[in-house]
Amino acid sequence: MALAERLKAEIAARESDLVALTQDLIRIPTLNPPGAFYREICDYLDQRLLKAGFETELIRAEGAVGDSDAHPRWNIVARREGGRPGDTVHFNSHIDVVEAGHGWTVDPFGGEVKDGRVYGRGACDMKGGLAASIIAAEAFIELCPDHAGAIEISGTADEESGGFGGVAYLAQQGRYAHVDHVIIPEPLNKDRICLGHRGVWWAEVETKGEIAHGSMPFLGDCAVRHMGAVLQEMETSLFPALAQKRTAMPVVPEGARQSTLNINSIHGGEPEQAAGYTGLPSPCVPDRCRMVIDRRFLIEEDIEEVEREVRAVLETVRRGRPGFDYDITELHRVLPTMTERDAPVVGAVAQAVRNVFGREADYVVSPGTYDQKHIDRIGRLKNCIAYGPGILDLAHKPDEYVGIADMVESAQVMALALSELLDAAGTPPS
Ligand SMILES: [Zn+2]
Repeated sequence: MALAERLKAEIAARESDLVALTQDLIRIPTLNPPGAFYREICDYLDQRLLKAGFETELIRAEGAVGDSDAHPRWNIVARREGGRPGDTVHFNSHIDVVEAGHGWTVDPFGGEVKDGRVYGRGACDMKGGLAASIIAAEAFIELCPDHAGAIEISGTADEESGGFGGVAYLAQQGRYAHVDHVIIPEPLNKDRICLGHRGVWWAEVETKGEIAHGSMPFLGDCAVRHMGAVLQEMETSLFPALAQKRTAMPVVPEGARQSTLNINSIHGGEPEQAAGYTGLPSPCVPDRCRMVIDRRFLIEEDIEEVEREVRAVLETVRRGRPGFDYDITELHRVLPTMTERDAPVVGAVAQAVRNVFGREADYVVSPGTYDQKHIDRIGRLKNCIAYGPGILDLAHKPDEYVGIADMVESAQVMALALSELLDAAGTPPS
């Protein structure tokens, strides 16, 4: 039997192992925030990967944003050399999950199996993908122990909160310097290759006024009315302009194939009272109003231009409103990234998808960011994609699940990609 067929059969035979591994991972409730049980899940992965012949290292992101003695940011990096010179293929999965939230009909940390699916928080995002990559590597090592190069598997903290205690930290430590190919098993679906993501620019806009008694508003200056004028100008000029900016990036869903802006929050005047407080508000003219905006931008756009557009809105308002004044503060920025379709890791996964599904892979770009940003910007490695089982729409929702057949098939794709990238064809027959 050809190696590809043997690899596929080997993985199909490991289905119950794959399910049990996914269940075990889901049952460690690595909630972020606060960043719980990172050490426990790293210890679990450590035992598993040592048994598979990896050398492992547990790395705490000391001093990184979010790291504390109460909630240390632990990461694991495991490496297995094949014994011949060659490339390093690195699978990176985040180990953290978001809060369960309401509306579950199963235990979010029970790992229940039902109708061919494993349920639980993190099932698709992304413990199912992590499990699939481990099974892929184990099966590949079993059949091709003398492969070229090396396989690495990392489990990293804090992706859901920016990745600073995870992939960003590892990249700063030079942990991607020797890596040639990165596959991030985020749930983009088993037959799609995700090349990258749009950019992010978050900012806080503050309008200024003057406090006065609410019965004599003419003695003050209402910062909320000023903010209203900003919103009006955004509706008139900015939102229509953004809708015109289309991208050649294959972003999914289709609605995100343009520039977007979300208003995350607006607050002006007195703080809202806690539920149960029965007093009345006091009469004051608000002297400050703050708005947080979340602008997602395209690879064709320049981040300086993104910022200039928002400033232009504020300056237009200033020209038309006596007394108008504002501050604008950048909160967060991530540049867009997109791997070329002819990059080696893309080619290897595309060929594996063709083999497993008998058709071409779809190429997509994610509307939001993930850890590829750090591998690109800090690690300076472009040859990186997201590829993994699960449906992105289920991420962060109640009754999150991952399909068992999807996990098996993506593990097959990952193992075939390994055989392509690590010269398994040159493996002496055993
Ligand atoms: Zn994720």
